[in-house]
Amino acid sequence: MNIHEYQAKELLAKFGVAIPAGYAALSVEEAVEAAKRLPGPLYVVKSQIHAGGRGKGKFKELPADAKGGVRLAFSLDEVRAHATDMLGNTLVTIQTGEAGKQVNRLYITDGADIEKEFYLSLLVDRKSSRVAMIVSTEGGMDIETVAHDTPEKITTLTIDPATGLTDADAKKASAALKLEGDLAAQAEDTVKKLYEAFIATDMEMCEINPLVQTKDGKILVLDAKVAFDGNAMFRHKDIAELRDVTEEDPAEVEASEYDLAYIKLDGNIGCMVNGAGLAMATMDIIKLNGEFPANFLDVGGGASKEKVTAAFKIILKDPAVKGILVNIFGGIMKCDIIADGIVAAAKEVNLSVPLVVRLEGTNVEQGKKILSESGLAIVPANDLGDAAKKIVAEVRKVA
Ligand code: GDP
Ligand code: MG
Repeated sequence: MNIHEYQAKELLAKFGVAIPAGYAALSVEEAVEAAKRLPGPLYVVKSQIHAGGRGKGKFKELPADAKGGVRLAFSLDEVRAHATDMLGNTLVTIQTGEAGKQVNRLYITDGADIEKEFYLSLLVDRKSSRVAMIVSTEGGMDIETVAHDTPEKITTLTIDPATGLTDADAKKASAALKLEGDLAAQAEDTVKKLYEAFIATDMEMCEINPLVQTKDGKILVLDAKVAFDGNAMFRHKDIAELRDVTEEDPAEVEASEYDLAYIKLDGNIGCMVNGAGLAMATMDIIKLNGEFPANFLDVGGGASKEKVTAAFKIILKDPAVKGILVNIFGGIMKCDIIADGIVAAAKEVNLSVPLVVRLEGTNVEQGKKILSESGLAIVPANDLGDAAKKIVAEVRKVA
């Protein structure tokens, strides 16, 4: 689960992390009012979207040479002008994809006088089963580019969750940032507090880019991108409330309401599968046959008829879907129940795209009978390979 920069900073501030003062704003007037509460003379007007690279981003509605989604302002009038440029407009960054994201919220912060920019992130590293802390002197840049062009400028430390982040770990981080004396001490303090916040709130990622050293000798967090482990949100009700569903894919939000694991992809074959492993295998075999899946969808083990119907509707809302492949192994969920769901849903939504169904497992014969007697043009398949070939052939007929 992702949150906005201003929410991340407010959360980190609770753990004692040094951040510049700032206020969120939903309108131009609120942005100006927010700036009035800050000391000035430098303000930063920041678009709040769930994507990075805002500074170098471009607004679709503005001329190509207009400034990006993070802008410095030297007066209240400039704050007003920037806020007017940003609110309601669509920001395209390297992370948003071509469609971009509409800016509905701003964050007005006290501008920092920057001496140096650094990079620092914490993330759950499955490979080492630890928390990886990545630090670099190359802050403010796209870290993937730094990793590609100058990998020697990136230091990765792994933190053992059993001991937590030690003084020695913190010192390694400040040394990698080439900081000394009081600045090193501030950086070490920041690193420890970030780690504490990371663990306490079940973060998956906490990326500070940039962490800065100001001209007057302070270490500050200037940008924060935080993602939480969605499965842990039940024990952080306050954080779960920070979720901004307008930033998420509407189909994914609807799917989560039905407890369906749905992720939208770019292909044209809709998939309805039970079990994450089978769903992955289904996507693989579609690709092996030369087409691309339109989604990942795991209806889960105990799916009801209602859930299958909801899943069907969600898949069909995607205009790119030219055919659907249902691949179900009836273990806990029985094939006849699935077949009932498929038939009911197909009738309800007036199914207009080809549908290939592969059923296997408990009550498979009853399931197949329900499908063949439904009067619907369902193409039955015998196994995974057969199913993939058939659905690929069907969507190519349509195209
Ligand atoms: P991002 O582009 O989405 O990563 O947004 P950031 O919050 O990281 O801002 C982009 C860049 O704007 C930073 O790398 C800084 O160079 C600059 N910037 C952000 N805040 C300030 C500030 O308070 N003062 C100054 N001088 N520059 C800032
Ligand atoms: Mg940044």
